[in-house]
Amino acid sequence: MTQEPLEYMEWRTRTWYGLPVRVVVSSSNVHRVWGDGIQVPHVGLVNLISRQGLPRNVRLELTARHELGHLQTLPVPLVHALLLWRGYRGKHIPKRWFWPLALVAHQAIWEVAAESYVVATDPRAVRHPRPAWARRLYGFFWFIMALLAVGLTWLLASGESKPNAKPPEDEP
Ligand SMILES: [Zn+2]
Repeated sequence: MTQEPLEYMEWRTRTWYGLPVRVVVSSSNVHRVWGDGIQVPHVGLVNLISRQGLPRNVRLELTARHELGHLQTLPVPLVHALLLWRGYRGKHIPKRWFWPLALVAHQAIWEVAAESYVVATDPRAVRHPRPAWARRLYGFFWFIMALLAVGLTWLLASGESKPNAKPPEDEP
């Protein structure tokens, strides 16, 4: 069995809020992203699923864009964390369930935000021809991620926002 040679792509740029970014992606599905020299941890699985059926060069370029997208859309997960915190203080859900579910919802928000950035800035993510099964897989990715991001967040952040509200005290 012949193996295709590994391909790398490096991209140095800045986010809209001025953070210097370095992205290195490879056809081995090991990708790295640095924001101002600090490496950001990242799961490669999303790119593996989302780029199925695309030619190698398009795959690498869209993957690099996805990694950059994580930093470009940073305010989204920050706002999400605040929403979760508000939901936690509302104690709508038992504590032992809250944080594991919050972690899943938060990861999903990160991915939805980064991949939305890809779709908004490079139409090939949606329009480039790919086999029907790969197109369905990409649709499935969107469905699951949106469900986790929106559904779980709604579950965690909704509910009573003033848990400590006391009944009005009687006038003396
Ligand atoms: Zn990602």
